[in-house]
Amino acid sequence: MRGRGGNVSEVFVSFQGEGVHAGRRHLFVRLGGCPLRCRYCDTPESLVPTAQCRILGPDGERRRPNPMTAAELESEVRALVAVAPPLAALAVTGGEPLAQTDFVAAWLELRRDRLPVLLETAGILPGRLARLLSHVAIVSLDFKCPSNTGERARWDEHQACLEAAVAARRDVYVKMPVDEATASDEVERGAALVAGVDPAVPLFLTPLTAPEGTELTITPATLERLHAVASRRHPDVRVMPQLHKVLGIL
Ligand code: SF4
Repeated sequence: MRGRGGNVSEVFVSFQGEGVHAGRRHLFVRLGGCPLRCRYCDTPESLVPTAQCRILGPDGERRRPNPMTAAELESEVRALVAVAPPLAALAVTGGEPLAQTDFVAAWLELRRDRLPVLLETAGILPGRLARLLSHVAIVSLDFKCPSNTGERARWDEHQACLEAAVAARRDVYVKMPVDEATASDEVERGAALVAGVDPAVPLFLTPLTAPEGTELTITPATLERLHAVASRRHPDVRVMPQLHKVLGIL
């Protein structure tokens, strides 16, 4: 990586597909690389750094080599903001954006427009999240259930991330991806954790879809059961499918 350069896999405009702000038009900056390997990952192209960044604008697709400097990324973002329809937020996603905290911080320090920044993170790197919070208005945290990720449990890290976002008074919500294999005691634990930190933080159960297509990998009965389990621990549990999958968009 060159200097403070970063690896960016995609820059594009689309509708937010998950959480409190679903359905709003966002500009997405997707960072390349992730330390996790969730079994259900829907962005496998972002698991490792990419040689090129794909930029999707009104004139079609363009590619530029990685790494990019913070100034280069900001220039691409400004150009897209200038030609896009009105935007509700700038979504910083991945991969795992916090894997490149220095680069993301350097880029966000350059930003001058008033577009709120929505950070989407797996919530496993609390120290790094704390360093970025001054640049971020909205925090979207994923809580990972080991039964469906195949990863080890990260409850302590999830709790520390949620506590940091709540203490900083950010707009925060938690998503918990669920499928037919998801253990109900893990959903219960996640719901209790969110409610214990702040019951005003909504918890979204996100029914997962097959890697290809839009078929859900959880039955309505299981989803209903998991929602009931979570709702015994948390007063605001919502079920929401991934809107971008339903619409067939990025
Ligand atoms: S944290 Fe997100 S990007 Fe990383 S492996 Fe899991 S689903 Fe994929």
